[in-house]
Amino acid sequence: MIDQATIERIIDAAHISDVVSEFVTLKKRGVNQLGLCPFHNEKTPSFTVSPAKGIFKCFGCGKGGNSVNFIMELEQLSYPDALRWLAKKFHIEIEEKEESQEEKALKDERESMMIVSAFAQKYFSRFLLKENEGRTIGLSYLRERGIRDDIITKFELGYCPDGKDTFTQAAQREGYKMDFLEKTGLTIKRDDWVRDRFGGRVIFPVHNVAGRVIAFGGRTLTNDKKVAKYLNSPESEIYHKGRTLYGIYQAKRQMTNQDKCYLVEGYTDVLSFHMAGIENVVASSGTSLTIDQIRLIRRFTPNITIVYDGDDAGIKASLRGIDMVLEEGINVKVLPLPRGEDPDTFARSMSASQLAEYIKTNETDFIKFKTQLLMGTVENDPISKARLINDIVRSISVIPDNITRTIYIKECSRLMDVQEEVLYTEIRKIQNKQSEDQTRKDLQALQVQAAKPVVPAAEKKTANPFETEEREILRILLKYFHHEVFEIEDEATKEIHTYTVGFYVLSELQNDGLVSVNPIVRTMIGAMEQNVDNKDFDPIKFFTQYPDQEVSQYTSNLLAEKYIESKRWSKSGAFIETEAELLYLLVPKLIQEYKLKNVKVLLKKIEHQINEANKNNDSEKFMEYMTQFQNLKKVMKELSEQLGFRTIS
Ligand SMILES: [Zn+2]
Repeated sequence: MIDQATIERIIDAAHISDVVSEFVTLKKRGVNQLGLCPFHNEKTPSFTVSPAKGIFKCFGCGKGGNSVNFIMELEQLSYPDALRWLAKKFHIEIEEKEESQEEKALKDERESMMIVSAFAQKYFSRFLLKENEGRTIGLSYLRERGIRDDIITKFELGYCPDGKDTFTQAAQREGYKMDFLEKTGLTIKRDDWVRDRFGGRVIFPVHNVAGRVIAFGGRTLTNDKKVAKYLNSPESEIYHKGRTLYGIYQAKRQMTNQDKCYLVEGYTDVLSFHMAGIENVVASSGTSLTIDQIRLIRRFTPNITIVYDGDDAGIKASLRGIDMVLEEGINVKVLPLPRGEDPDTFARSMSASQLAEYIKTNETDFIKFKTQLLMGTVENDPISKARLINDIVRSISVIPDNITRTIYIKECSRLMDVQEEVLYTEIRKIQNKQSEDQTRKDLQALQVQAAKPVVPAAEKKTANPFETEEREILRILLKYFHHEVFEIEDEATKEIHTYTVGFYVLSELQNDGLVSVNPIVRTMIGAMEQNVDNKDFDPIKFFTQYPDQEVSQYTSNLLAEKYIESKRWSKSGAFIETEAELLYLLVPKLIQEYKLKNVKVLLKKIEHQINEANKNNDSEKFMEYMTQFQNLKKVMKELSEQLGFRTIS
């Protein structure tokens, strides 16, 4: 049990931005921060953090809450355990009473498995460093391989004693249940015998993104060919090989800082890179890269360099699944090592600066690599060459970024001695097919006419004095477009007609000819006008999925704003929760404010023109502007009175 005072201290210390940015790269977007959601797969960020409110919200999957909720969700922890996680992270001492047996038993299975794994890691580490067997066998092996003590500590390496079930017995003595020892694979149990899975092996704990131990790899120290060199934890409730990357916890900060990630194959490769001062490195641990692993990397950086062994198997392994990587919008480079070297031996054979230099000169982009590799085998065979071209063009066509594609085409044309035009034609064929499919899908999903955005780039820079008001109007429209809150009585028939927020706002804007200088706003208003009577039109869905990224992003930002208390509403004494109920008051007020602001801006302009006319002794112009000025003043007074302000004349 954690006492209330401690909970408050933890929540105070754990700022939402700090907590979230441990896992997600956040970019500033107005008063909020935006990133790719860790809870669902997305390519366009809709995951929003509001530092002011201390909350996060994903507009893709709907998850949201404070920093404790974030950790609970991400790490699948209970409330108290999420608090403990945060306390550890922000160095806050927790005062809590010892857990009872019942409380221990209540913990869910996952958590129990993580706790057993954490115990095992500590046990193995202590055994490696403190016990005679661990030191003479395990530690001396690691030292022999040149692995420094700081790296041993950083990766929490260990050693499992070489007895039948020494570890299992120790764990049971400490009160850990056989059930979870078995489920984590630490203990192998059959009807009549029990033994440690990793007995006599050097241990590499596998951490998840948050730094908790979820699995182990064990390396044998015997030369017995019949014994597997590496043994790994089996798949379990907490460990899914295809969703894990070895070293991700130790790499994530530098992955963000360097905006790049090296992908190697094994545990020792990762360690050697760290020793050479390169920390943004992860290993897929023998499996070929999975889509989940790519997305895990993508949370921190879109740039991957695949480092591969200089043998044929290594090359083949690094080619597998590359299209999948490209498709995720990731930039792939490859770093070939000299024949006979693996990342481990290679990194250890040179100094940090030599390694950095080698990387700089030898890193090549993937298309070049693949082309060079395959060209040698097909040179004199036109059919094979055509197939190769098709293969590579297909790889290029999935790259989402235009510029990157262009660069690859140039490179490919040069290397394969094919005209660029031929390649472009091939790519267009593939893309046309893809975009047709996509369009059909979009239309089916939306079932509304999409107004094609016309957004000339030059216009975007125009300063917009009405930004605050327009954002608020759009936010209200997105949220309450179909809400019927206004009514009007037909004077002849005495019938009451209701109409929607969307209809009210759009006709008000139209009647006064108010048009935004912001092309995004114009696009959105235009599309809404077309759909004002369309009951199936879902503005939030429509604009968050809008093909123009500027519009969809603008929309996500707008939607996130509702979590920041609107000054306007709180000043009037109303809380954000009652917004929907107050629409009949709020919406007309908002429109009037917008009009008032327009009048004010216009007045300023006319004032300037009056001064100019006066200076030039142009009495005709002077009178004309003065009349306009007086009329506008009248309009302003009326609008102000409607808003309940007193005008200062
Ligand atoms: Zn999400």
